[in-house]
Amino acid sequence: MPAEDTVHRWASPQRSYGHYYEDIFVVIQVEQLLYRLPVALLKKRSRVFSDLFSLPRSGSICSTEGLSDGELIILHGYSSREFNCLLDYLFGRSPNDTQAGSKSQCSVPFLISLLKMSSVFKISDGKSYAIAEMETHPELDLATKLQLCFQYNLVQWLTPAFQQLISLPIEELREEDVLKIPSKILHSFIQVKHQMTTHRLTLASIPPPAMAGFACHTPLTCADTWERAWKEGPAEMLRHPDTFYSGREILDQLESVEISDVCDSCRDFSVINVKESGSLLLEEHFIENKITELASWLAVL
Ligand SMILES: [Zn+2]
Repeated sequence: MPAEDTVHRWASPQRSYGHYYEDIFVVIQVEQLLYRLPVALLKKRSRVFSDLFSLPRSGSICSTEGLSDGELIILHGYSSREFNCLLDYLFGRSPNDTQAGSKSQCSVPFLISLLKMSSVFKISDGKSYAIAEMETHPELDLATKLQLCFQYNLVQWLTPAFQQLISLPIEELREEDVLKIPSKILHSFIQVKHQMTTHRLTLASIPPPAMAGFACHTPLTCADTWERAWKEGPAEMLRHPDTFYSGREILDQLESVEISDVCDSCRDFSVINVKESGSLLLEEHFIENKITELASWLAVL
């Protein structure tokens, strides 16, 4: 019985199942540029091209359509710049396109075009690549991220992007950002900001009750001092004009700080009461609830 390598040496060569391509090229016009592209590779990478080039060439589809500059296929509604990005991704960029000696990160405009064109032509790996690259891209601004989140249903971007948006003071939003952020998300942002502001002002003006400790000998003094300390401490932080202190930061500080003229027993009971009431963490729930609402909205788009 011959050895296996002997069998291979004398067996007839076989065509590779995955990489034996037909030599048919298609000419596609996008704006004023003509592209001559291998049909087999387009079919392999894109479901849309696969369906398009698998149609029987008869009736309304001429048998020679797309096979020459004179009988090309025109792609309307796209720019050659966007189509170039897709082809650069599919077939590799020319070494001359990148700076010598540097492994450059794809630009945000390139990745946005790739995301758009991959979505149009149903190229799932192109779409995944663009999303993954942009997720941590230092040049992707927040407004654009929220815009893409809406346009391409990127639910996974919603929570971090909306939390980042909420952390911004309203006055820091630029006009171009406001125009870019989807109106539903912008409206949610304004609603949550309003809820938070109202809640913070209420917390600042109405101190939580002082709780008398079991070991306290001066409950009235402790209660008065607790109220004054709240107005000078947490209330000032809640209303601070320049620095935003989250409710959680204020709670952490409250748990660690000593309040003179309030006995330890009253202080501990009062702080526990604030903590258990959840009032300082309510703003986190406002945000979470709104994100849940927005995620449901995105899911049915
Ligand atoms: Zn006390």
